[in-house]
Amino acid sequence: MRVKFWGTRGSIPTPGRHTLRYGGNTICVELRTDAGQRLILDGGTGLRGLGRALLQETCPLDFHILISHTHWDHTQGIAFFAPMTCPENRITIYATSGTDRHIEEIFAQQMDYANFPVSLEERHGQVVFREIGEEEFIIGNIRVQSCFVNHTILTLGYRIHCGNVCVVYVTDHEPFAPSLYRSDVTDPGLDDIVHAGDRKHVEFLTGADLVIHDAQFTAEELVNRRGWGHSSLEYAVEVCVAARAKQLALIHHDPDRSDEELDHLEAAGQAYARQLGSDLRVSAAAEGMEIKLNETVEELATPGTAQAASVEARHHARILVVDDEPAMVQYLTTVLTRDGYEVLQAMSGYEALAVVREQSPDLVLLDVMMPEMDGFQVLQELRASEEFRDLPVIILTALTAEQDIVRSFEEGVTDYIDKPVTPAVLRARVRRWLLSRDNR
Ligand SMILES: [Zn+2]
Ligand SMILES: [Zn+2]
Repeated sequence: MRVKFWGTRGSIPTPGRHTLRYGGNTICVELRTDAGQRLILDGGTGLRGLGRALLQETCPLDFHILISHTHWDHTQGIAFFAPMTCPENRITIYATSGTDRHIEEIFAQQMDYANFPVSLEERHGQVVFREIGEEEFIIGNIRVQSCFVNHTILTLGYRIHCGNVCVVYVTDHEPFAPSLYRSDVTDPGLDDIVHAGDRKHVEFLTGADLVIHDAQFTAEELVNRRGWGHSSLEYAVEVCVAARAKQLALIHHDPDRSDEELDHLEAAGQAYARQLGSDLRVSAAAEGMEIKLNETVEELATPGTAQAASVEARHHARILVVDDEPAMVQYLTTVLTRDGYEVLQAMSGYEALAVVREQSPDLVLLDVMMPEMDGFQVLQELRASEEFRDLPVIILTALTAEQDIVRSFEEGVTDYIDKPVTPAVLRARVRRWLLSRDNR
């Protein structure tokens, strides 16, 4: 398999003398198997160059583009993808919608008359949109698993298998907790990961030959950029080491990062992996860079059943907000009603349990520190009952200590978010759990 980077930048294209070597185009990665099958990961402005290169090949071509999410730095190249103008070509775009709109509608809007001169309908190539969630599917001789990651809108990471080769692509993902491992353990393993979301993330990366991972910031920079939905270099290295991945390509470079700074980042990442006792190879992805991975043919396993059955967001889902501070209840209600949810409110633990029993919400957002009955007691009551054992409960709290996060998962919470939370992150996390409520 051959992996080629056509765009490596995050957020916005950054042409100029300071980005000549690593490139200024936004994210686009091409995977080509030894059998000649092709997958495209994201459609940032780098997709334009890939499209021009593909014009040299004879029609008809069959393209599969896996989109992580619909932010413009991952989709802006779609309108400029030249193979889309050839009637014989067939293009399938896989994506998840972070809103109630279907993905076709979101892409059509990008090419609306006010934004672009040629509409999606006027394109001659056959374009098919496939809206996906967390699932497993086959494209030719490639097996793809998708997994929700932690961003400001619903975002998918992809785990791609072909023969014996495994490539994982994760961009626009923020660590769930400030540190990966519990600090009270000397030789930490998978069970010592603080947040269940980070543990699932490591599992998703397990044994990969190549992980292409967001590393927009350093750990120091990330402290003041929590809620922006991105990883640090250190986190990217730590999760790859924990997952025993062989190679890491850093991507989604910050627009302010110069070539020299990226050289330093690459060296720092490599040194950090060594410090952790790993022989993980670390490189900063550069436009035009190619990575070859040795493929041996293996029987393609039949896909498992989809892990998350539905990608239809529950438009009219009912969400219970529990907090003893009226201003917080009001704030959360305002944010959630933007997505059309019905919001129920409770100002105490007792009230929360009564509302759950009477009105059976689809999801609960639960504060911890409340007088008389705190969030942990509410959670215990819910998990002890047959009826609400699997009800998604997200703790939303000002408690950020590691032991509070660990305890919450031990008590059976679905997710843990610390305050303050941005409206975008809250909407993404809530939608994620409404889509796969049995995935705790
Ligand atoms: Zn991005
Ligand atoms: Zn994004």
